[in-house]
Amino acid sequence: MQEYQSWHNQTSDEALCALESTLEGLSADEVMLRLQTFGPNKLPGPAQRSQLLRFLSHFNNILIYVLIGAASITALLGHMVDTFVIVAVVIINAIIGYYQEGKAEKAMQAIRQMLALLASVKRDGKHQVIAGEELVPGDIVYLEAGDKLPADLRLLKSHSLRIQESILTGESVAVEKQTTAVPMDAPLGDRFCIGFSGTTVTSGQGMGVVIATGAKTEIGRIGGLLYAVQTLETPLVSQLGVFARWLTLFILAISVLMLLFGYFVLHHDFTSLFMAVVGIAVAAIPEGLPAVLTITLAVGVKLMAQRSAIVRRLPAIETLGSVSVICTDKTGTLTRNEMTVDTIVTSSEHFTVKGVGYAPCGDIEIEDSVINGQDYPSLKELGRAAALCNDAELIRKNELWSGDGDPMEIALLALASKIGIDRNKIRNQWTRTDIVPFDSKHKYMATLEHHQGQRALIYLKGAPETILSMCLKQRACGDEVERLNTKYWEEKANTIASRGRRVLAFAIKTVEFQHTVLNHEDMQDSLIFLGLTGLIDPPREEARKSIEKCHRASIDVKMITGDHAITASAIGKQLGFRNSDRVLTGQELDNIEDAQLKSIVGETGIFARTNPEQKLRLVMALQANNMTVAMTGDGVNDAPALKRADVGVAMGKTGSEAAKEASDIVLVDDNFATIVAAVREGRTVYDNIKKVISWTLPTNAGEALTIVLALLLGLNLPITPIQILWINMITAVTLGIALAFEPTEENTMQRPPRLHDESLLAGGLLWHILLVAGLFLVGVFSMYEYAIFRGYSEALARTIAMNTLVVLEIFHLFFIRNMYGTSLTRKAVLGTRVVWAAVIVVTLGQFAITYLPWLQTVFETQAINLFDGVLIITVGVIMFFIIEIEKQIRLRVWNNSF
Ligand code: ADP
Ligand code: MG
Repeated sequence: MQEYQSWHNQTSDEALCALESTLEGLSADEVMLRLQTFGPNKLPGPAQRSQLLRFLSHFNNILIYVLIGAASITALLGHMVDTFVIVAVVIINAIIGYYQEGKAEKAMQAIRQMLALLASVKRDGKHQVIAGEELVPGDIVYLEAGDKLPADLRLLKSHSLRIQESILTGESVAVEKQTTAVPMDAPLGDRFCIGFSGTTVTSGQGMGVVIATGAKTEIGRIGGLLYAVQTLETPLVSQLGVFARWLTLFILAISVLMLLFGYFVLHHDFTSLFMAVVGIAVAAIPEGLPAVLTITLAVGVKLMAQRSAIVRRLPAIETLGSVSVICTDKTGTLTRNEMTVDTIVTSSEHFTVKGVGYAPCGDIEIEDSVINGQDYPSLKELGRAAALCNDAELIRKNELWSGDGDPMEIALLALASKIGIDRNKIRNQWTRTDIVPFDSKHKYMATLEHHQGQRALIYLKGAPETILSMCLKQRACGDEVERLNTKYWEEKANTIASRGRRVLAFAIKTVEFQHTVLNHEDMQDSLIFLGLTGLIDPPREEARKSIEKCHRASIDVKMITGDHAITASAIGKQLGFRNSDRVLTGQELDNIEDAQLKSIVGETGIFARTNPEQKLRLVMALQANNMTVAMTGDGVNDAPALKRADVGVAMGKTGSEAAKEASDIVLVDDNFATIVAAVREGRTVYDNIKKVISWTLPTNAGEALTIVLALLLGLNLPITPIQILWINMITAVTLGIALAFEPTEENTMQRPPRLHDESLLAGGLLWHILLVAGLFLVGVFSMYEYAIFRGYSEALARTIAMNTLVVLEIFHLFFIRNMYGTSLTRKAVLGTRVVWAAVIVVTLGQFAITYLPWLQTVFETQAINLFDGVLIITVGVIMFFIIEIEKQIRLRVWNNSF
């Protein structure tokens, strides 16, 4: 195989020849060989942070610096045990963080791989879809609108192929591509016969041979695509990160003031004062918060992926929870996209077609009596159009029939076969010279076919209104042609559509044999209308249920489709859409002003015969009504609407690469139910973030207040700084992580969506912080005083106080798990495995530092007797009941959570 310096000045044949490839593609063996020589088709990714750096990054945090400083000072003062504990706790904390972060990163990595680019190729003479990474030079690659080029290609065929190359040339207008060679010195932007890796097809179709892969591609050579590194961060989380940083600084300032005040005014002993102040800092700073939030997000992303929704942009997770309207496609999303033709109407006959699925067996009947397709020339002609104006493939595997391509076109192939047309035979008789591919703006597709060196025909299929508007004549019985009876066809189309069928029209036009290029202009006149077909596309059962769920969750659902208004309305009714009889068509949409649209958009359930540009207007009209919009899309032209929507949802199976790139989440299964599952997951993640915060902050505040109060009142500290360190950096982090894994609360999808500008740290949460911090303070102090009163030693009193604090944290955890319901149901008490695992680990830890002799010396603790143990738990139970009753009052009287 030759390696050229340049390919754009070679003819396509020269290029193919040099690459030792043919239009039939490479053989499997050859591919294997080349894969070994050239390596996989991928660009070197962003440099991975080394494991050591990742581990060390967990020490890069103000609190840790403070602790390291404290460890040095205690060492200088000769308190080696304290130094040892501080260092140990800091290291254990970093290990926990490192491990959890590793898991979160792995989850994100796996998800990125799920979105890997695919390529449609021909190998061994067969069409295949392969991973873009497996491409080798010489591979034959097919392109269509919306595709992202998987490698550099020398184009061999181009049907109005336009490619947007701004990532290479900066030029945002798409370039029209062709196949003739260009001069050697043509700049990148003028190499019209080359398609560059990473650029996007905006319209048309094409085919090319791979000339370079991986780092050898143009984009690879200029340093590779700038990989957008997915960080686990959303607006909310970064906002909280900023909040945590300010809080840290604030607390440090307070600590310094306390130190000065304690030393100069209260004349405390410096060593113990210093340790107490470090204790305040450790207690008050929510050091575990950012890590736990990151894990919460990662858990959410992973769960969504398991439910077939891949999150491309992390902030979408938050936004999903506040979605108040979902605008969805019909075909494939609400319906199964398993089409079957069941009706054919010609100018004089109405046929019913039997048989289910893609199997090409089934009778054709007129009024219940079986007929032979061959006896009806107009039916045969329509069948021929169905078979030729078609890009799909009908495949038979054993007894099972399946297809490759657009389900509607596969169904048409099955139909042609039922009529008695042998696809392979006519494909051999006819040569396709050009094509106008289907696009959802023009709503038709046409092919130019040449018949064995004699005649040429254009075959068309598309939406009935479109095709009708192009025709003046229609096929009568036999070979006759008569004037088009528009009214007749419109009536027939409406009847078929009102049964929820998708209606497709066919037409034909004879052209001169010299005609070899097809344009939209060619469809202007002398077209002959052939007939209509009606296709069943059964609604998805799960879509019905999901729509019901949305309504219960106060989420509106709107259908936006390119299909006929009557078909759309019929399907909408079957699926339980609200306002399914209020249909607005694309044409009507174009005739109303933005202001008027804003006022009627809410009451309209269905938008039919729309083109992608109109989706953008709809998103904006809904947003103008203060709604948070989730919008689905699959085509290139959907990209602007997907970007503009609060949550852009792309189809994984039928969606184009361009749509996926513009979207926030990708549905692997193209299923409407998945969107609703994702919304539910989004609400859960947001709730869990809220739970993490509502649990962490009061805990921290309570601990810090305890020490501050003791210092100010000149009392002995009820908990030593070392114990605080332990509780915060080990116990609290372990318990807090359990909240990241909280399952969805029962009534999550019965609540209205949260307002998108709702502030998390609003009044309710502040009140909860104060309440719980106060209760913690009272609980810890009273247990300490009780112990002193009983005449226990100071160390034992502190041990009791510390364990009270941990027990309070555990009860608070059980409380916070149900923010919107009661925490006293059987299910709530049983908890989850993660919660119990955390509780058990923490309990074992507490037993260890309370009863193990060597840990007793380190933490200055003493064994607690059974009675006091029970008392400690009772304090927890009491606090639990107080806050539970407070919550129930809040929920019932004010109907608010926090
Ligand atoms: P949908 O919202 O149902 O996906 P589309 O934009 O895909 O709508 O299609 C709109 C209309 O265009 C269909 O109702 C059909 O009449 C016509 N159409 C769809 N696909 C094709 C095709 N491959 N060839 C010709 N016409 C098509
Ligand atoms: Mg479609």
